[in-house]
Amino acid sequence: MRAEIIAVGTELSSGQTLDTNSSWLSQQLAGLGITTAFCTIVADDLHDLLTAMRVASQRVQLILLSGGLGPTQDDLTRDALAQALQEPLVEDAVALEQIRMFFASRGRPMPERNRVQALRPLSAELLPNPIGTAPGLFAKFGSVPVFALPGVPQELRRMYSEQVRPRLQQLGLTAGVTLYRKINTFGLGESAVEEKILDLTVRGRQPEVGITVSDAVVSLRIIARAPDQAAAQAQITATETIIRERLGTLVFGVESEELEDAVVQLLHQHKVTLATAESVTGGLVAHRVCRVPGASDYFRGGIVAYTDEVKHRELAVPWDLLQTCTAVSAPVAQAMADGVRRRFGVDLAVATTGFAGPTGGTPHDPIGTVYVALAHPQGTEVVRYVWSGERTEVMSRTARLALNLVRLHLLKTATT
Ligand code: AMP
Ligand code: MG
Repeated sequence: MRAEIIAVGTELSSGQTLDTNSSWLSQQLAGLGITTAFCTIVADDLHDLLTAMRVASQRVQLILLSGGLGPTQDDLTRDALAQALQEPLVEDAVALEQIRMFFASRGRPMPERNRVQALRPLSAELLPNPIGTAPGLFAKFGSVPVFALPGVPQELRRMYSEQVRPRLQQLGLTAGVTLYRKINTFGLGESAVEEKILDLTVRGRQPEVGITVSDAVVSLRIIARAPDQAAAQAQITATETIIRERLGTLVFGVESEELEDAVVQLLHQHKVTLATAESVTGGLVAHRVCRVPGASDYFRGGIVAYTDEVKHRELAVPWDLLQTCTAVSAPVAQAMADGVRRRFGVDLAVATTGFAGPTGGTPHDPIGTVYVALAHPQGTEVVRYVWSGERTEVMSRTARLALNLVRLHLLKTATT
């Protein structure tokens, strides 16, 4: 069972509004075991809309349309559906009354223009909209069910849940369950991660494992399709176990968890305090840590030390070190971490320095080069990394690199 979602609206095709309805709908369908094979975005154009409907009816077994059901002249879904079905539009007395009542309940007369919203292709059924004026439509292109839903996300969601889902079940279109699991890793690039699990990411495997990268976080997405919830869950668990065994400490969380969530949890677990000294990341590391509820128990604070003078005055980085090594160097990163660790009296301190670009850099340390240092009771470690990417990307990736250093240290040792 494969579906196509057609999102209608020039605001979507022109890139002014993000099409969130399609992603929401495809997730809902997945939960019913229906695969979304195509998501199409069409501008408010009758001919193109008609083409999209015809193409869809030939390649999938279910069509969901979103948008274009409003009362204005650019709302053409109703007309296109009637033309695709080769049927006239007829006025639905019950729907007209509901639209009148919608306005009456708000103390307003119904604008004449809204009357078109009571029109439906002859064979189509109108789906009530309890929170808006646009009723939905349900029709069949031969054997292919078509649902047209309003574009306003709130109205679409409610109508899907109350009207569409029960009909999909009645029509016997639902087939089992699809479950998703996202596993987040940091520390290796996507191809290096994939090399460790090539047998899992091979096409056609059940459950499917896909890889996506976002801002240096490589995520593995397990997609399990099974007749029931328990069977799908069993597939997920088995594959997740293999992934965790193979990737070890590269895995830092699941679903929407970030590195800072893992860090704060570990700080709590080991009762370890943390402070930051940031140059290239401009406070991003501290910001990320502070976003996690409960951070205040173990995060003491941080210093954004951007200039050499501040690095010297606030973090006691020796002048001669700044002069001989320059601010973007391993010794300075180390001195920054040591300095803030002493100053705040914490167990762990992390420091960042680097060239975020677009200018700066040296032949030895080109733009994108960063040094991140971690000071702990047993000593101070520094890592160097050269990112490709723009200024803000270098900054946010370096913040993640710093958090990961803290995380790996806490995983290795219970520092107190
Ligand atoms: P429409 O039903 O086409 O008149 O759309 C009504 C409003 O819903 C639009 O102005 C958009 O703000 C919003 N909208 C329409 N389609 C989508 C979509 N696919 N995703 C998110 N919002 C949408
Ligand atoms: Mg529209």
